[in-house]
Amino acid sequence: MDADSKEDNVTFNQLSFDNPAERFSDMKPQAQHQRFPGSDADLTPPADHGETSYRGTGRLTGRKALITGGDSGIGAAVAIAFAREGADVAINYLEAERADAERIGGLIESEGRKAVLLPGDLRERETSRRLVADTVEALGGLDILVNNAGNQVYQKDFREFDEEELDKTLRTNIDAMFWLTKDALARMGPGSTIINTTSVQAYKPSPILIDYASTKYAINGFTKGLAMQLAAEGIRVNAVAPGPIWTPLQVTEGQPPEKVEQFGENTALGRMGQPVELAPAYVFLASPESSYVVGETINVNGGLPTP
Ligand code: NAD
Ligand code: MG
Repeated sequence: MDADSKEDNVTFNQLSFDNPAERFSDMKPQAQHQRFPGSDADLTPPADHGETSYRGTGRLTGRKALITGGDSGIGAAVAIAFAREGADVAINYLEAERADAERIGGLIESEGRKAVLLPGDLRERETSRRLVADTVEALGGLDILVNNAGNQVYQKDFREFDEEELDKTLRTNIDAMFWLTKDALARMGPGSTIINTTSVQAYKPSPILIDYASTKYAINGFTKGLAMQLAAEGIRVNAVAPGPIWTPLQVTEGQPPEKVEQFGENTALGRMGQPVELAPAYVFLASPESSYVVGETINVNGGLPTP
């Protein structure tokens, strides 16, 4: 590495051959609660999105990406990685998440890439039309769509299921994915890619996440079916299924607060994952390196075997 490189201070990166069971072992989940949609800035300990560690290799040079939920958590790690791989990146988030979004926008720009900040509630049909139009106008096109925004709120007793919460989960996780994908496809051509964030919940539904898990099953089905329809046109659709990852989603009633301290202990690695550990899977699926990967779900879950 040359002496002037901005990576001089990096002692650890995604290519370090350390023990994966001990990676991030100094970061233990701590009990806490935030109001929806939460903020990465308030997460304790802070999550790792690859700010100091993700090294790009030009795999997305010149590509134009739109990432929902790109302000925090997994979407933020993907945004940073895409920029370091050479892509210009638009991110969508809720207005309440502006501070997180501005931080990620700054990191994208510090790579010399364009960052476009597009607040908007995905539960409204008009938002997805506007997101696609604004992305195309600001970046000059759209080749990568990452449907990553999600709503997860636990509900203990199905008989008392809150139907407003059900509507929120279905609209955010399913309707918005259909709308945004439809609108984006009008602007995408051969070589474009769509990547959906599903979950280990699509295989092992938690009894207190029935609505959420149902949407994640559906995202897997959506991914496979749409992939079959679009493959011959040269547009690939795939998914990533994270396991327990340290993000604001988990402390905004994604699970009961008393469970947070054990978060990730049930994986084979015995620890929670960090958002940065998801980014390479999205980079792979967005890049032409995965040209023969179609309708697949990559599981990144610390060892929670799936069918
Ligand atoms: P996160 O809270 O950082 O990201 C979720 C994002 O969804 C928020 O930042 C917010 O911008 C967006 N969002 C929610 N409702 C929205 C709405 N109505 N309109 C617009 N945006 C909205 O948490 P995360 O864990 O990084 O979540 C990203 C994805 O990963 C989600 O789809 C989630 O289901 C999935 N996932 C997370 C885990 C985990 O353990 N953290 C595990 C499996 C899957
Ligand atoms: Mg957020």
